[in-house]
Amino acid sequence: MKLHIQTLFVAVGLGVKRNWHIFLAIILGVIFGNYIHDNQTFFVPFVKVLNIIGQAFIRIIQMVVIPLVCSAIVVGISSIGDSKQIGKFGKKMILYYGIITILAVSVGAALVLAIKPGIGVQEFISQSSALEIQNQVNNAIAEQKGQLGNLFLNMIPQNPLESLAKGEMIPIIFFALIFSLALSKVGEINRPVVSFFESVFAATMKITDWIMIFAAPGIFALTTVSVSSFGLGIFSTISKFFAIVFIGFCIQFFVIYPAMLKIFSKVPVGTFYTAIIEALLVAFGTASSSATLPLTIACCEKRGISHKVCSFVLPLGATLNMDGTALFQTVAVIFLTQAYGITLEPLQIIQIMVLALISSSTCAGIPGAGLITIALVLNGLGLTPQQLVEGFAFLFAIDRVVDMLRTTVNVASDATVAAIIADNENEVDYDLLNNTEQYKEII
Ligand code: ASP
Repeated sequence: MKLHIQTLFVAVGLGVKRNWHIFLAIILGVIFGNYIHDNQTFFVPFVKVLNIIGQAFIRIIQMVVIPLVCSAIVVGISSIGDSKQIGKFGKKMILYYGIITILAVSVGAALVLAIKPGIGVQEFISQSSALEIQNQVNNAIAEQKGQLGNLFLNMIPQNPLESLAKGEMIPIIFFALIFSLALSKVGEINRPVVSFFESVFAATMKITDWIMIFAAPGIFALTTVSVSSFGLGIFSTISKFFAIVFIGFCIQFFVIYPAMLKIFSKVPVGTFYTAIIEALLVAFGTASSSATLPLTIACCEKRGISHKVCSFVLPLGATLNMDGTALFQTVAVIFLTQAYGITLEPLQIIQIMVLALISSSTCAGIPGAGLITIALVLNGLGLTPQQLVEGFAFLFAIDRVVDMLRTTVNVASDATVAAIIADNENEVDYDLLNNTEQYKEII
């Protein structure tokens, strides 16, 4: 394969300095956003301009996602060649993504059942769910009805070009996987197509490099606009609910992932998280695992996780593995049942956890998607239609901040699983991973 890791270094050009710029952009965005929230009228035009800058940043990263996913999968799978090895990767991926998400819903359920944040907040929920949001919510609930049945059929594209045009990630990945597998079986005749996709991959990485020059202003704009819409005061009004979701995310991030890295691999936890920090910051700023995917791939590959593993595990993870979302959905649904005085049987709690697991995997890696698919989990728990709409609208109002956090968790877990599988399959270049000198040279 022509794609050397050195090329990726240059192409992606990640550096410690840029991490600090993005980090600073987030802090400044929070401060400015909160200030604007308190002085709204004066800053309306300013927010409009920032919104355009932020949206432009997200759109331009999203622009490379589909060519990147297709080319990464084709290059990765055709370079694996051996379908037994692909099967091994696939089984491990399902196993580890499964473990991580089951742990996430268990952590979420344990916290919300132990602390019971929903008790006594019914009135607050009713008051805080504005009418215009309730209308949007009604539409979202209607859209989700019947989705579960079509879940598996929707994975298979009738026309891959139509799926490409519509940006439907799961059908695109499904087709790309089968197409690449077939390519790997047809011998030398596959060279022109594989070379073509190698070039596409290199070019999309180059574009990612260019885009990342604007990461700090883009993330500043996104954070400012988000915080200006809710203001930091929101944390006091939703304090208990938010605290539980936040603690759950911290347990995943600081306990479960490091423990999994330690138990299932010899990847050094601190070094690995330092390597992917830029992807995590972008995930926080954009609230989109899909938009962050180019960065997640770049961060992992540049520090020695092989292209074979990254190209297979990360695009699938960015679409199917949403453990942060599953944790949030479990907490949110049990919280609402507590608020409306519904006592859950143990079987219903398990039902919520299983549905959260399924519905999180069906949600796209875009902002707010995890809130929309929550409608699947809320079904059949005995909430009246009015309660359903009110509860959903309450979550809607506070979703952006929770989304930024859960996306960071989602991306961290994709990278963690990629690192574990790479270690298990001897696909980690430990010299590169542990070599901080080389990292510094790139700056
Ligand atoms: N925004 C999340 C992501 O892209 C999905 C969600 O809304 O939970 O990972």
